[in-house]
Amino acid sequence: MPERDGSRYIFVTGGVVSSLGKGLAAASIAALLESRGLKVALLKFDPYLNVDPGTMSPFQHGEVFVTDDGAETDLDLGHYERFTSGTLSRLNNVTAGRIYETILAKERRGDYLGKTVQVIPHVTNEIKDAIRRVSSGAGDGRPDITIVEIGGTVGDIESLPFLEAIRQMRQEVGRENALFIHLTLVPFIAAAGELKTKPTQQSVRDLRAIGIQADIVLCRTDRFLSSELRAKIALFCNVAEEAVITAKDAASIYQVPVLLGEQGLDELALRYLHMPAPPSNLRPWHAIIDRFEHPQGEVRIAVVGKYIEYEDSYKSLKEALVHAALSQRLRLHVDWVESEGLEQQPPTAVAARLAAADGILVPGGFGARGIEGMLAAIRYARESGTPFFGICLGMQCAVIEFARNACGLAQANSSEFDPATPQRVIYKLRELLGVEEMGGTMRLGSWPCVLQPGSRAAAAYGRQEIHERHRHRYEMNRDFEPQLNAAGMTVSGRSPDEVYVEVVEIASHPWFLGCQFHPEFKSRLLAPHPLFVAFVAAAHARTVAAGGGASQCSSSPVPA
Ligand code: GLN
Repeated sequence: MPERDGSRYIFVTGGVVSSLGKGLAAASIAALLESRGLKVALLKFDPYLNVDPGTMSPFQHGEVFVTDDGAETDLDLGHYERFTSGTLSRLNNVTAGRIYETILAKERRGDYLGKTVQVIPHVTNEIKDAIRRVSSGAGDGRPDITIVEIGGTVGDIESLPFLEAIRQMRQEVGRENALFIHLTLVPFIAAAGELKTKPTQQSVRDLRAIGIQADIVLCRTDRFLSSELRAKIALFCNVAEEAVITAKDAASIYQVPVLLGEQGLDELALRYLHMPAPPSNLRPWHAIIDRFEHPQGEVRIAVVGKYIEYEDSYKSLKEALVHAALSQRLRLHVDWVESEGLEQQPPTAVAARLAAADGILVPGGFGARGIEGMLAAIRYARESGTPFFGICLGMQCAVIEFARNACGLAQANSSEFDPATPQRVIYKLRELLGVEEMGGTMRLGSWPCVLQPGSRAAAAYGRQEIHERHRHRYEMNRDFEPQLNAAGMTVSGRSPDEVYVEVVEIASHPWFLGCQFHPEFKSRLLAPHPLFVAFVAAAHARTVAAGGGASQCSSSPVPA
């Protein structure tokens, strides 16, 4: 029985090769629809068999994005939150592993009453249920349109059940209530001196072979498609010419919504969904592009971490720095420093490596590799007065460094790196408290924090009560607080019950702050995170003071 409950769907698939920016395309479409006052929900399916990406290596899979409700999700969810006003949850990212886990649990309970459990209908039904949970508003309220992105590339074995499910879904919700957008590659072949459409034709045909006719084809290219080329793609792909859209490479990902909007993508999508198109307001996006193209100064941030080779490992962090820099009309240069490379170096070599940085940031991470290099970088930042921002592992390292070099606790360490250390300044507090949760003793998702009045953190936020997202097992050991205090490091943020240390600072330093949470997950282009804004401002102030920067800068809001 077809359902006609007013839900509308846009299904986004990808073809030819992976990494074409399907997540960004989906997020951009969401931003365009939101700019017309529509409420949009996003759902990403990942075809791999891991139940969630929480246990996957950052080198393999990039960053794990954490939601308020503590779900460990695909980094595309970060794009979704950064491009829209939505707040996502565990409902918005579902892997094949999660689907199978649910089905196998039902099978063991006898829920299927002895029937044979099969990909069609059991797996596909479970996938459709996951879509309906989002479109019915079980997450962030009932959306006007639900955008569903299918991870992977058409032609992969793993994504077949998902494609079959969305094929069925369109039948069920009514053809006029759903739309298929397919992202492909139109490569420029230098030897021939032309763009080639064959991979796109083949990919759209592969999709058709499983019963899905693309309505709109997004062509990733390095140059705009001529009208002849668009006509050719339209002819071979069986779509209207106006439905062949150029997804041209952009200097900044934040140009993508405007680029797609200028070609009428959102208007066309609404027309295909038989919905009126309310006027769009892209002023904030244009303002951002203007700031990007016309900076009034620059700032150089060294990020000293352990997953540097693969930039996607620090996706949200990089974007949070971009947001903060743009809010101050600054061009951002990130110097990615592999922390292992700073180990066993004399202090002069560490200083030489980091001398050009206006600010130093040590991000999150797990395991002992590279820690001594991070400690060396933090020592340099502390002693040279270079603004320093430590996030999660970075904060823990800042405490270790300070305990060792400012408090004389030579053996200070985290029990993560040295379980036997007598000076455990960082330890597994939750294990001692007997807290056992799913995923062990990991502290995940949004937690409240109270900031010390008059602290740098309170000044940055402009308020004393905050909520930030966590993903860690270890905590600062409060037994050492008096010693740290005596030497000048203070605790400026705590959990309301005062059990957990959330923020530490050194008041005598130009800007030295470490936080146990991950502020980068809550930074948005149109609402940059206050700690990143304050850190970037401090870093820039340092260059201005040294005569390096251009004009004075202040953070100013983007017009609504
Ligand atoms: N490894 C540290 C912990 O588990 C820090 C984790 C992180 O930086 N996300 O507490």
